Amino acid sequence: MRDLASQLKWVKTVAIAGHIRPDGDCVGSCLATYNYIKTWFPQIQADIYLEPIPNIFKFLKNSEQIQSTYDNDKAYDLCIVQDCGDTGRLGEAVKYFQSAKKTICIDHHVSNDNFADENYIFPEASSTSELVFELLETEKITKEIAECIYVGMVHDTGVFQYSCTSARTMNIAGILMEKGIDFSQIVDETFYTKTFAQNQILGQALLNSKLLLEGAVIATAVSKEEMERFQVLPKHLDGIVSQLRVTKGVEAAIFLYENEDHTWKVSMRSNGKANVADIAVKYNGGGHVRAAGATMEGRPEEIFDRICEEIKGQLND
Ligand code: 5GP
Ligand code: MN
Repeated sequence: MRDLASQLKWVKTVAIAGHIRPDGDCVGSCLATYNYIKTWFPQIQADIYLEPIPNIFKFLKNSEQIQSTYDNDKAYDLCIVQDCGDTGRLGEAVKYFQSAKKTICIDHHVSNDNFADENYIFPEASSTSELVFELLETEKITKEIAECIYVGMVHDTGVFQYSCTSARTMNIAGILMEKGIDFSQIVDETFYTKTFAQNQILGQALLNSKLLLEGAVIATAVSKEEMERFQVLPKHLDGIVSQLRVTKGVEAAIFLYENEDHTWKVSMRSNGKANVADIAVKYNGGGHVRAAGATMEGRPEEIFDRICEEIKGQLND
């Protein structure tokens, strides 16, 4: 697949979906594709499906069109899934993926095994949003589409800071700036600004953090009880693991929060020597070498021990 337009020629209906608990890249890349189709292929009936998105992304064009409920009887000509390394991460949208006449996957996860009919998978890309940019005609990227792509790139690169940022990423960001987007406002309002409650839970998580493996790993957990006490939801915990990672001397950071069913959502970050994607995959999760996640059972200390064992092995190799 070299471009999106040629994939749409025969299509009358399309569903666009991303991963559960959508982040900036997932929301940005899916809305970019949706807005492109809505703008340039108005004859196609397009629908976009994601779990409820964080409020910070609601300024993006057509975010109010995102649907979070699913109709069992509906089937589409084409289903485009983005920022999703496997069908297990699609949540309920998997039914549209399974019933579609044709499927496309656009993604940048190393763990992606080309599960769709057409796959546009580049693990070295900064973000799925960057890949969506590559698939669209630059002159057809409106300011509103540019905002979506920029949000995705900003979030998956930590504002162009992580090692996944390439010269190409910066070139694309430059082209998006020329579309007239308010890039500093996007960075400030979607990436840096936190609510008071978010800052409080960050403080709590940092206070509770501990160094493991002789300082090579930093780890902390937020329980359901704490989330209730601070009145935050899982989607408000973004950024905590990034703050852990920048602790001087650590090779890796582990952040857990408790799910409704008392399992733990695990977020891992590496500063380069540890491969957290490998660890996540062992526990049915996935992600990137330096940023990955999974769901695990047990007490937080047991989960930390299991992950530290893996990291220890990697650091000794
Ligand atoms: P985060 O720690 O920010 O939730 O996720 C880091 C990276 O790992 C993201 O690219 C995300 O898509 C991926 N990831 C997180 N949790 C899971 C999971 O449970 N399964 C899979 N396959 N990937 C995950
Ligand atoms: Mn992504």
